[in-house]
Amino acid sequence: MTISEPIILGLEGTAHTAGVAVIQGKQILLNESSTYFPPQGGIHPREAANYLAKQFPKLIEKIFQNLPFKADKIDGIAFSQGPGLGPCLRTTATVARAVSLKLNKPLLGVNHCVAHVELGRTITPANDPIVLYVSGGNTQLITFLNGRYRVLGETLDIAIGNALDTLGREMNLPHPGGPHIEKQAQRGKDLLQLPYTIKGMSFSFSGMVTAAKKLIANHSISDVCYSFQEYTFAILAEATERALSCTKKGSVLLTGGVAANAHLQNIIKEVANEQDSSYYVVPRNLAGDNGVMIAFAGTHLLNSGDILPIQKSQVKPRWRTDQVKVRWIP
Ligand code: AMP
Ligand code: MG
Repeated sequence: MTISEPIILGLEGTAHTAGVAVIQGKQILLNESSTYFPPQGGIHPREAANYLAKQFPKLIEKIFQNLPFKADKIDGIAFSQGPGLGPCLRTTATVARAVSLKLNKPLLGVNHCVAHVELGRTITPANDPIVLYVSGGNTQLITFLNGRYRVLGETLDIAIGNALDTLGREMNLPHPGGPHIEKQAQRGKDLLQLPYTIKGMSFSFSGMVTAAKKLIANHSISDVCYSFQEYTFAILAEATERALSCTKKGSVLLTGGVAANAHLQNIIKEVANEQDSSYYVVPRNLAGDNGVMIAFAGTHLLNSGDILPIQKSQVKPRWRTDQVKVRWIP
C-alpha cells in the first residue's frame, strides 16, 4: 500500500503579493497570485493589506472552483506567519484561520524565508545548499546547520530589492525598479565609484543608494544603474563565495525576486564554478513570493507534526530564519 502525500493549501501574504496554491508532495496542482503595485512611491503596509483583503477571496474562490477533488481532501492550511509587514500578515492569518475552521483542517504557520529555501530544495536538485535569498524585503545567505537554517550573512539595513526599487524611483523608473535597472544597466559603459559596504559576511545597501542618488545629476541613468548593479552584486558574490569556501557545502541556490536578474545569475554561477560547486536558480515564475513555497514548507510542518493551534497563531513580523526549528531535516 502506498500512502499518498498530503495535499496542502498554501497562503502567502507578507507584503505585496497575495498567493494561493495547492500542492501534493512535489507536485504543484494549482497556483494563483496577485501583486500590488503602489500608484506612486513605495509600498504602504496598510494599503497593501487592503489589497490582500480584496484579492484573497477571489483567488481562493478560483482555486476551489478548479480543485480536481473535494475540498475535504485538503490535509492542511499553511500560511505565511512571518516575517513581513504587520497589517499584511494579520490579513493573511485571518484568511488562513477562516479556511482552517471552515474545512476543519490543521493550520500550519510557515516562516516566509524558510519557505523560499524549501521551494528551492523541492523544485531544483539542490539538497543542502548555500542559499542566496534576494528579494524586496529580505537579503540573506542561509544554510542548514545543527537543526536550523542559519543566517551566515545578511543585509544590515535594507534589502537589495528595496535598494533597487528606491533607486529606480529616484530615476522615475516604473515600480518595481529592479527589472528596469537591469535593462538600463545593459547600456552602461562607465563604472562610477560607489561605496563598497561589506562587513564580514554581512552587507548594507542604504548608503549605497544615497551615494548613487547623488550621481544621477551628473551621469547617465544607464551608467548609474550599471555601476549600482556591479557594486551591489559584487558584494553579494563576495559573501556567497566566502560562504561556499568556508562551509564546503558544494552547491549554491539563488532565490527571491531579484534572482530573476540575468547578470546576478551569471555572477553567482561564476562564483559557484570557482568554488567547484553546483549552481541552481529558482525559475522566474516561482522566484518571487507565491503560495506554492508556503505549501511546500507547510507539508514539512505537517509531516513533522508541527501543527499550529489557532489560539497561538498570532503573526510574527520579525520572525527570524534561525528561530525556526527545522524538524524535517535529520
Ligand atoms: P519578492 O520580494 O521576492 O517578490 O521580489 C520582488 C523584488 O524583486 C523587487 O524588489 C523587484 O525589483 C525585484 N526584481 C524583480 N525582477 C528583477 C530583475 N530582473 N532584476 C533585479 N531585481 C528584480
Ligand atoms: Mg520573499
